Parts: sequence; structure tokens; C-alpha cells
Amino acid sequence: HPITRFAPSPTGFLHIGGARTALFNWLYARGRGGKMLLRIEDTDRQRSTDAAIAAILDGLSWLGLDWDGEPISQFARMERHAEVAWQLVESGHAYRCYASQEELAEMRETARAEGRPPRYDGRWRDRDPSEAPEGIKPVIRIKAPQDGETVVEDHVQGRVTFPNRDLDDFIILRSDGTPTYMLAVVVDDHDMGVTHVIRGDDHLTNAARQGIIYEALGWQVPQWAHIPLIHGPDGAKLSKRHGALGVEAYRAMGYLPEALRNYLARLGWGHGDEEIFSSEQATEWFDLDAIGKGAARFDFVKLQNLNGHYIRQADDARLVADMLKILPEMETPPAFPAELSAAQRTQLMQLMPGLKERAKTLVELVHNATFLFAARPLTLDSNAEGLLDEDARRRLGLLRDALGNCAWETEPLEGAVRTLAESEGIKLGKLAQPLRAALTGSTSSPGIFDVMLALGREETLARIADQAS
Ligand code: GLU
Repeated sequence: HPITRFAPSPTGFLHIGGARTALFNWLYARGRGGKMLLRIEDTDRQRSTDAAIAAILDGLSWLGLDWDGEPISQFARMERHAEVAWQLVESGHAYRCYASQEELAEMRETARAEGRPPRYDGRWRDRDPSEAPEGIKPVIRIKAPQDGETVVEDHVQGRVTFPNRDLDDFIILRSDGTPTYMLAVVVDDHDMGVTHVIRGDDHLTNAARQGIIYEALGWQVPQWAHIPLIHGPDGAKLSKRHGALGVEAYRAMGYLPEALRNYLARLGWGHGDEEIFSSEQATEWFDLDAIGKGAARFDFVKLQNLNGHYIRQADDARLVADMLKILPEMETPPAFPAELSAAQRTQLMQLMPGLKERAKTLVELVHNATFLFAARPLTLDSNAEGLLDEDARRRLGLLRDALGNCAWETEPLEGAVRTLAESEGIKLGKLAQPLRAALTGSTSSPGIFDVMLALGREETLARIADQAS
């Protein structure tokens, strides 16, 4: 039973890339009877506010990615990290380094001049601490292997080798006693019993360094899976415009969590040609070895189409609740009631089947439903206005009379409209479109007879009369 973990640094929101990393960890653990743990890498005390942490937990909860146990604070484990660092000094795998800032700057300078990457030259590696200059607090550095290579066996990247001369004796404990990221991650993953580290491939080089710490401690190296980052549709690094947003921005744009989950699962991983699948199916199918090596490309159009699919599938009452929830988050909220009266709810529910067919996001759903509750006389959009020429307005007058004593059910309503179209010698659409304009203020809406039923007799006749000549 694998133990995975999601280890975000709280930066103020759950980034879409982080959400995918969390999803892959979740799918892997859930599909194999394992656990997914959550570790907040909150060692940056400036950025790690309660609000930033809450934003991550909220994002995960909204996406339906549950974790096991309490979230673990990396900061709270600082003493343990230091303890392990000293243990490594005891066992001869790490050492105190007293090199001054000036010395380090000089090393960097020399490296630059020789066109090499900056590298600590190991000058305190074999020196006795008794030689230490007075009044200087040392850092602790790992004794990294000096020749040969370090190998990262990765489920996604394959076998990746790093020449050890590029991995210098890096710092594991700072002079103020705080651990570096490199050490903290290894100690935490080990103590948490993590068996599989699934994270962005920007951490691949870190895996080599972390492997060195694992070796020095005699701990078992976890299974690695470094997943390619998400790129924009043009192949470039994901920009804001291309979707590099927090999960909460997707919620505000009207995406359903199950749609985003499905979309993110397909981003870099796939199961044959399957595009639409439930999270249950995904947990069953998900496998680290099937994650692609190339950068995944974020495609808003695909996400929207998928969202449209999930909206059509969703339960009407749930969608109504979601629509009300999203209202305060909308950038330009329409005149949609913040609360629905019982009568309004009934109207909306009646029209949901037709509304669902036409919306790709909850935001669209809200916009498309707003006409139901609009005050008379309606404000028509320019396309709708354009349909209402003199003839159309005259016919609306006739239609109002014809509908006046019509039973308020689909068939008689349709019969009345057809009869009038025939007697006017025009096609049904030529009458139905102006009617739609008068009833909804726009040129697209659910079926016109469904609209009439949802509006009811009185409101329908009044709206027609408003536009009739
Ligand atoms: N905190 C790191 C990040 O947010 C992740 C570290 C890890 O997964 O090992 O990029």
C-alpha cells in the first residue's frame, strides 16, 4: 500500500499545476489502497500565513482531493531536522563548514571565470573542527560522493544520471540551526513513511541530492515520479492568460470540480483514447509508468467542452445551488436574484433541462437564466432588437391575442404559434425568433415553448405586449 504525499509551499493559492500534482498523488494512493498525506512546506515564515494555508486546503477540498490524517507542518519539525543533521556529522557523513561569505564569493568568482557552475570546493571536508575560526557559527554540509555518478531511477523520466562532480557538498543545516529544503524534505518523507514521491520535474535535480542524503542515512530511497510541468497551448511556459491560475479562479469561472479533475487527470496522463471518465475509473486505471515525458499542454477549449459535458450530466437542483454560490464570485454579476423565492426556484428548475444543453460553465448558466427574473420591460440585446421590425411587432400583437385564451401547455401553445405563422404565410422560425427576442431579450435560449411554460401565462403575455405594436 503506497504512501504518497502532496507537499505544497503555501504561496497564497493552490496553483493549477499543484492541483494536478495533488491529483496524481491522490489517484495513485486511492487506486492502491494506500494513503495520501499532506505536508505544508511552511518554512518561509513570511509567506506562510494562515490564509495562504487555508487557500490550499480549500482548493483541495473543493476539488474533492481528500488527504489522510492531519496536515503536517514542516516548520514544526525543525528540531527533528537539526537532530538528523547532527546525526550525520556524528556518523562522518556530514561536516561543519566555517567558510566565510568572502571565501564563498571567491569560489563563485573563480568558477565563473573558468566557465564552470558555482561549486563549493570542499575545503572543510577533511579539516578538524579545532581549526575553526573563533566566533563563527558553522553550517553543516553533506559529504557528497566526489566522483562517479548519482542515479535517479524515475518512473516518468527513466534512469537519469548526474555526474557527482556537479553535486557539491551542499548545505543541510544553516548556521542559524535551520534546515535547508533538501534536508527537511528527506527527513519528513522518511518519517512520514512516504513510499512514492510524485512531484513536478523541476525537482529532478533535487532528487539526486536527496538521494545522497538518503544513502548517507542508510534510509531507503522512495520511488520517484517527476512529472513534466504544464505548458500553454503554444508549448511555452504556462502563462496567466493560458491558465496559470489558482484553483479558486477556475471555481469562479464556473467549472465543476469533477470536470477539472477529469481534465487534469488527462493532462500528462492518459488511458488509451478515453477522454471522459469518473474519478473512480481514473483511480483504477492510473499508473505512474503511463505518465508522458513531454510537457502537457493546457487547452481551455478542451476543459470547457468537458465542463459542458459534466454540466449536462449534473443534477438540476445541485446546479441551481452551485449557480447561487458562484454569483458573488462573478466578475460582472447579472441581475440574478441572490436568493430564490419558491416560485422562482420552480421556474428555474423547469427550465434547467434546456439551459443545461447550452452552457459550458456555471457562469454561462447564470447569464442564460437571468432573463427569467428580469424586470419588464426587458432590455433587448442588439441582435434581438434587430429582429423586431415593424412586421415582427405587428405579428407579436396578433400572437398576444392568439395566446390570450390558449391552454398553457406545450401542444396548444405550439399549435397557436404554428397557426399564426401559416396564416401569415411565414415559416415558424420567422415568428418564433421575434417571440424569443421579446421573451428573453436575446436570440438564443432554451426551446421557446419551454420558456413560455417557465415564464407562465401572465408574464409571457406581458412581455409580448411590451414589444408588440
Ligand atoms: N514544496 C515544494 C513545492 O511546492 C514541493 C516539494 C516536494 O514535493 O518535494 O514545489
